[in-house]
Amino acid sequence: MKQQFKPATLCVQAGWEPKNGDPRVLPIIQSTTFKYDDTEEMADLFDLKKEGYFYTRLQNPTNDAVARKIAALEGGVGAMLTSSGQAANFYAVFNICEAGDHIVASTEIYGGTYNLFGVTLKKLGIECTFINQEDSEEQISKAFRPNTKALFGETISNPGCKILDIEKFARIAHSHGVPLIVDNTFPTPINCRPFEWGADIVTHSTTKYMDGHATQVGGCVVDSGNFDWEKSAEKFPGLTTPDESYHGLTYTKAFGKMAYMTKLVAQLMRDLGSIPSPHNAFLLNLGLETLHLRMPRHCENALRVAEFLSKDERVAWIQYSDLPSDSDHALAEKYLPNGSCGVMAFGLKGDRQTAIKFMDSLKLINIVTHVADARTCVLHPASHTHRQLSDEQLRQAGIAPDLIRLSVGIEDADDILADIRQALDKIAE
Ligand SMILES: *Cc1c(COP(=O)(O)O)cnc(C)c1O
Repeated sequence: MKQQFKPATLCVQAGWEPKNGDPRVLPIIQSTTFKYDDTEEMADLFDLKKEGYFYTRLQNPTNDAVARKIAALEGGVGAMLTSSGQAANFYAVFNICEAGDHIVASTEIYGGTYNLFGVTLKKLGIECTFINQEDSEEQISKAFRPNTKALFGETISNPGCKILDIEKFARIAHSHGVPLIVDNTFPTPINCRPFEWGADIVTHSTTKYMDGHATQVGGCVVDSGNFDWEKSAEKFPGLTTPDESYHGLTYTKAFGKMAYMTKLVAQLMRDLGSIPSPHNAFLLNLGLETLHLRMPRHCENALRVAEFLSKDERVAWIQYSDLPSDSDHALAEKYLPNGSCGVMAFGLKGDRQTAIKFMDSLKLINIVTHVADARTCVLHPASHTHRQLSDEQLRQAGIAPDLIRLSVGIEDADDILADIRQALDKIAE
């Protein structure tokens, strides 16, 4: 089921297409292994000569159906589920990088990805240069080296809520012969499809809106199939020269547009093994079935909250791109015409203590280390995820010490607003 259907139809029906007499609902194939009648057939599967299931670390029918749904929603040629968003971003990069290589990424990205790229990849011999995504093409181009293999950014950054100029980033990446990888977690393909703007690979933390109910941690890598690996063959020997661990098979020659995806599954997942359980994939699929209904409601509620906060004199600043006054509103109108998502960042006049007083006074809205699910929630990076940092160190990491990340859910907006109002009143007491 491909692009002939609209996103809402794909959310409900893509991926699992039952044949006569099959279960209507995607079954959970909770089996590590699959049975075959003869040795020959199993051998062909191992040699990638035939398609089929033999071991769930490589492929599982439940996981694959959900991956197909996400690929259809993004308009990609294929997708692979991972056990977390962290794993998805690691695999997306590591599939085309090795020791001695280099990547370029926006400083605005999620803290977990920032650490992965800046600290952990470095230990594997892969260096990352972080750039300001608002800089000019010429400025950002200066970060590229002969050994650079990818450019990376987030459509909507977590937690700063800045919007990526995807077309600008795609031009920069392609002028250096490398793919653009975009983490599209916050808008989801309901609000933005980065492939339509030139991105080559998309990643997701499916833990967030795609699941939407905070029941599973998961991730996904999707390939557009558009990047010409052969054109920059010397940069991507892992795809364009024989793989010793697969009897000398060359991915681009054997699989064409599916080269990147096949290597991702057949080599990286085989060797590193961060698969989701089929049960988690099933839960993710349930979430995806209502994604197209939830995203507009998240946006509608968040805009009401953002309008209220932007007018309240106790609020020092707010970053929510759907507000006409927002610094990134023009980018949002271009890339996110139906709304961004339910997440916003804002600061209260006062200090760290003011933010803490406000958050501790919330009743309906919960303090949780999570974002982007049906329940409205809030987090203060300075006292939670980044509490070991001083105010100065926080600013260097691009996070204002007073930044409150509010993730507006799909409850009644009146109730969300009432809770925020009463908590703001408490800070003056
Ligand atoms: C949460 C998040 C991640 C990491 O995902 P996990 O599923 O928590 O591993 C990566 N990128 C973004 C934008 C996120 O919000």
